[in-house]
Amino acid sequence: MCAEPGHYKPLDAPVGPEPVAMVPVVQLYARDVPGLAFPAGTDLLQILWCPLVHEDDQYAANPRLLWRSTELTAAGTAAGEPPRPHTVEEDYLPRPCTVSPTAAVEYPNGDLPEELADLLDERFDDLKEKQGYCYFEVATTQQSKVGGYPGWTQPPDWPHCAGCGTRMEHLLSVTATEPGMGRWLPLDDRDPRQGISAAPSWQAEADPAALDTFGHDMCLGDLGGMYFFVCRACPGTPYTHRYDC
Ligand SMILES: [Zn+2]
Ligand SMILES: [Zn+2]
Repeated sequence: MCAEPGHYKPLDAPVGPEPVAMVPVVQLYARDVPGLAFPAGTDLLQILWCPLVHEDDQYAANPRLLWRSTELTAAGTAAGEPPRPHTVEEDYLPRPCTVSPTAAVEYPNGDLPEELADLLDERFDDLKEKQGYCYFEVATTQQSKVGGYPGWTQPPDWPHCAGCGTRMEHLLSVTATEPGMGRWLPLDDRDPRQGISAAPSWQAEADPAALDTFGHDMCLGDLGGMYFFVCRACPGTPYTHRYDC
């Protein structure tokens, strides 16, 4: 539950003192995501957030990240329906959906050092001429993901760990540009009429009617993203987040 006094739904009446139930946003089991390292004793990652705007420096939903053990969680299961928030900002309310992971190799776009970008400029021009796409459009996926680089829509803003001061690791992102606007449509979500090899994955297009039926359906402001970071060196695997749109 979130009882932060400053949270609100834009253009709506004040929320009042009654706490707002957080909503589940991401749930990943270790067995389904072999590339994701779980802290010792955990095999379940859950992210919930309060679906209102919060007056911290991010002005967005207020997330909480939990590493859990499936066994212990199952033992503590409560019967009945989970609590639902009595008010929500729709931009931050996901509809129920599942994930269809596709592995992708990423390269930095916003995070590419300027000197390196200058050095590679000619190659990027070549690429555009020969392949028809811009390096910066395809280097980093814009979809919700585990690992890789944040698909920043604003200049990169990496957090540093409050405990040890080192730059934190990008753990995962939840982004609004999915599934139709991302470039890495999972193989099983593509239009079968196009065939798997019809186009590079970032150009593949699914049946537009089908696109409306899957994904979390959140705008996150306007094509925004919530990026989660952890420090694995500090006890308790501290986390933080960044939001941009
Ligand atoms: Zn809240
Ligand atoms: Zn640290």
